[in-house]
Amino acid sequence: MSDHNMKSLLEAVLGFLFPKRAVCLGCGTMAGFPQDWLCQDCRQALAMSWVGADLPPRGLDGAACAYVYRGPAAKLVQALKYGGISRLAPFMAGDMAKAYHAIEPTGADCVAWVPMHPKRRRKRGYNHAELLARDVAARLELEPVDALRAVRAVRQQARLDSAQRMENLRGVIEAHADLTGRRVLLIDDVRTTGATAHTCADALRKAGAERVYLLCYCVARGEK
Ligand SMILES: [Zn+2]
Repeated sequence: MSDHNMKSLLEAVLGFLFPKRAVCLGCGTMAGFPQDWLCQDCRQALAMSWVGADLPPRGLDGAACAYVYRGPAAKLVQALKYGGISRLAPFMAGDMAKAYHAIEPTGADCVAWVPMHPKRRRKRGYNHAELLARDVAARLELEPVDALRAVRAVRQQARLDSAQRMENLRGVIEAHADLTGRRVLLIDDVRTTGATAHTCADALRKAGAERVYLLCYCVARGEK
């Protein structure tokens, strides 16, 4: 047996005898194993906030999301977005793929995502919406299409209302793919006012999309 094999065997045995405990991303208690991400309580809280089919924002033909943006769901989004934990994407995308079935049959034939300005993307290392979208696309066996571009940076939107967001987004997002006759499933992490989705849907339709559906991990309720 080579040294390398010996080392991995030893690591496997040690891992079995002394499993690494991980901090729950929801509540911070030491619970579960690294790949679990959440403790039992937080998993339960997450399941309680399940949404499924959701009223589509203006300009969209249908919408679904996995959870309400609160508690563990919000913590997971923040960890993916700001905490640099890109390995979370498959865990979250699995639930999004389940939520998508709530709006079937849509006949969606491809998946696009809300773009991030290249500068911000370089800073963060990845576009979290793209990670979610590519994983959802693989699970649903749909074609991922890099269709949208953010042509200039968007001011942070958190404090803006719906009308201000629309104004803020004017001319920011453009499609650069031929989507004639396509039925597009648009992916984002959180749906707030729906203004971002509306802007993306406009761009996708200009590029020829016949239908646009929205699938998000979370929906923020009772907020701007
Ligand atoms: Zn927890």
